[in-house]
Amino acid sequence: MTQKERISQQRNKTVWNLSPLFKHDDDPRIEREKGEVEKKSYEFINAWKDRIDYLKDPLILRQALDEYEKWKRACGTDGNPGYYFWLRTQQDQNNPVLKAKLSKIEEFSRRIENDIRFFHLRIAKISPRVQKKFLDYHGLSEYRHFLERTFAESRYLLSEPEEKILNLKTSTSYSNWIRMTSSFLAKEERKVRLEEGGSAFRTFSEIVSLMNSKARNVRDSAAHAFDDIIGKHVEVAEAEMNSVLSNKKVDDELRRLSRPDLSRHISDDIGSDIVDSLIHSVSARFDIPSRYYELKAKLFKVRRLKYHERNVEYGKVDKKYSYPTSTKVILKVLENIDAEFAGIYRNFMGKGQIDVHPKKGKSGGAFCAHSLISQPTYILLNHTDRLHDVLTIAHELGHGINNELIRKKQNSLNFGTPTSTAEVASTFMEDFVLREILKHSDDELRLAIMLTKLNDDVSTIFRQVACYNFETELHRQFRQKGYLSKEEIGKLFKGHMSAYMGDFVEQSEGSENWWVYWSHIRHFFYVYSYASGLLISKSLQSSVKNNPGFILKVKDFLSAGLSDSPRNIFMRLGIDISDREFWDKGLEDVERLLEETTSLARKLRKL
Ligand SMILES: [Zn+2]
Repeated sequence: MTQKERISQQRNKTVWNLSPLFKHDDDPRIEREKGEVEKKSYEFINAWKDRIDYLKDPLILRQALDEYEKWKRACGTDGNPGYYFWLRTQQDQNNPVLKAKLSKIEEFSRRIENDIRFFHLRIAKISPRVQKKFLDYHGLSEYRHFLERTFAESRYLLSEPEEKILNLKTSTSYSNWIRMTSSFLAKEERKVRLEEGGSAFRTFSEIVSLMNSKARNVRDSAAHAFDDIIGKHVEVAEAEMNSVLSNKKVDDELRRLSRPDLSRHISDDIGSDIVDSLIHSVSARFDIPSRYYELKAKLFKVRRLKYHERNVEYGKVDKKYSYPTSTKVILKVLENIDAEFAGIYRNFMGKGQIDVHPKKGKSGGAFCAHSLISQPTYILLNHTDRLHDVLTIAHELGHGINNELIRKKQNSLNFGTPTSTAEVASTFMEDFVLREILKHSDDELRLAIMLTKLNDDVSTIFRQVACYNFETELHRQFRQKGYLSKEEIGKLFKGHMSAYMGDFVEQSEGSENWWVYWSHIRHFFYVYSYASGLLISKSLQSSVKNNPGFILKVKDFLSAGLSDSPRNIFMRLGIDISDREFWDKGLEDVERLLEETTSLARKLRKL
């Protein structure tokens, strides 16, 4: 970037303004603030570490929690220096000076984290009788759900030395195994056909994206290379998977967890009955993705899609959306939903909280970052004028709006979103913006956009739930048999994938091994949260469409943070997320989009 471009970007505020944190990387305030963080942290630690009265007397617990809340608001374990250097490394990933500064502050933060952990652990260990007394105590109502969350985990915690041993053993019995498989895959290269013609060596991740190429010979060649790589490592992955499953089984038994997905539900603050009803509802509607693939196969004029062709885009979406144009579209949509949303976006832009354009060394993709309740939100984009980039702004802005609303209403211990609802705000904004874009598109473009949207919905809802079902059976069978061969794992995998894909996607030879590279499977039962987030969002969208005044309730939800469980928060909105009917409503929305897309394709004589 030239000096001129840099100045213009700063004037347009399309690069982050980090000055609310620090002026520059060598700002002398950085060291001073580190000293402050240390001082405040050890003031708290020294005041409470030898006391036990707060574990018995609710009035004293209140005082301790007030001080803890204040500490977490003001600085936590790393304060502004931690947030600042993390953000800086995202802007300039290959800068070794920044990396070194970040790693030093991380080390600093870990030491404080270890020293302050006693507070949380001891509260967790309060006896159930006293827990109840504390939860009923009015003076602690502001911290009620913080305590509930802490107590819920405590039931499955072992003693302090046992927890320490388990913690020290995680890298050898879990993370090293996973890293091994993914690092073997990442090192692979194969010669594949290229879109620009000819062929050349490409890395594993490049091959993955070439499988979505619109040119059949390119994607087939990539799929062939992909299967070859996966096939080469499937033996290793078999050993890895069995070790990881065994480690999980041991942990669950020690903690007396009754089902393999329970630890996930507890950490996500969501009842197993709620996840069960989501999984049942979605699994009962696997006819929707199969009908979608039937439509797609017909549009591509093939009898059946090959396994790797599921995500190939149909038609062309080549309309350009510059950043100023995108901003205009989004602001218009936000104004219509709620003026406060538009205000938050304007504020982000005016204060330089959005880093817009791609740059050498800048982190790829997009995210919305927050750390302490007292620190500004920062959004990172890599805007390249495609339709997808407009939706990405809306998505990250959804997270940003969520942060700002929580910040206004909650204390620092409730600042955050549970995994199960973390993607509601983002997909909510994304879908409203998409609808606005559809309004201004001709039929050809509409068809292409609607198919892309359907494809996303199918991947986010049905594929993830099929994966959840696969995981459930994988753990169950492993626990029964004691070991699963790669053939057995492959057979299970294939069964669950074909269950949602239906008859119009071929379970192509080699696809039974695709579990080898699906990293989420190793993080156990995480995938349901993609489906829950999008379906909750769809339900809120349709309520707002039917009654614009419902947005006030949506804002209540968006402001709630971690102040209560998702179940209770939605109950207050009049929504019962443990009821299957609730999930069915969101699924009907996808079905409606499928029907509209099918009739549009007919109207355009594509079928
Ligand atoms: Zn997101």
